[in-house]
Amino acid sequence: MFDPRDGYEAKAGLADRIAANYSAIEERVAAAGGRGRTRIVAVTKTHPAEVVWAALTAGLGDFGENYADELIAKAEALSGAELRWHMIGHIQSRTIKRLAPHVAVWHSVSRDKEMDILARLEVSARLLVQVDYTGAEGRNGVAPDRVPALVDHGRRLGLDVAGLMVVTPLIEAPGRARIFAATRELGESLGLGEFSMGMTDDFEWAVREGSTMVRIGRAIFGDRPAAQPAEAR
Ligand SMILES: *Cc1c(COP(=O)(O)O)cnc(C)c1O
Repeated sequence: MFDPRDGYEAKAGLADRIAANYSAIEERVAAAGGRGRTRIVAVTKTHPAEVVWAALTAGLGDFGENYADELIAKAEALSGAELRWHMIGHIQSRTIKRLAPHVAVWHSVSRDKEMDILARLEVSARLLVQVDYTGAEGRNGVAPDRVPALVDHGRRLGLDVAGLMVVTPLIEAPGRARIFAATRELGESLGLGEFSMGMTDDFEWAVREGSTMVRIGRAIFGDRPAAQPAEAR
């Protein structure tokens, strides 16, 4: 099994680089108006547990993963560490039970069925409903007009439905800003206060529109090694 302390001395430079990148993001979040409101979730998908360990020593505490197996493997490798795992990718029903002991925040809930399973497992984790404005095939999330019913379903099950999450399509920034604003307005109309919005390329726009959680990968850890499947968006 992976022992994060093995060879750690050689990785000291990594923690320093992560710390520097992270504080640059913190400054940009603050400059966009997010100080005290916007939490930074460090997206570690494709990076080994060793990188998460380096990030922990650099003072980070919130980590996001897209794939169940990867999240579980890293959570087990770092069991006992002070950190929160965020599930930010497409949720497959059959993986929920194995994920549940590790996940503090589910960002990407999109179906009644996922909520039913989470309720049966009596999870105390926070849930966000993922909204999709594009309707494009292969994208995770529910259409905005179906969000109220899904939020209501979760509340009736006694789940902690805290807010909404959105991943913008690859369009120019002003278009993304409108999507962030629409997401916040939709959530506020339902009494929700958490908004998981913004990634490396658009987080400042998201913060200006009320984001409470930005999900940042490349700006903290550099480019990811492998191409991401389309599903990741
Ligand atoms: C990969 C991913 C991120 C992080 O993206 P970066 O561009 O590396 O900041 C955030 N949210 C989701 C849903 C992702 O899949």
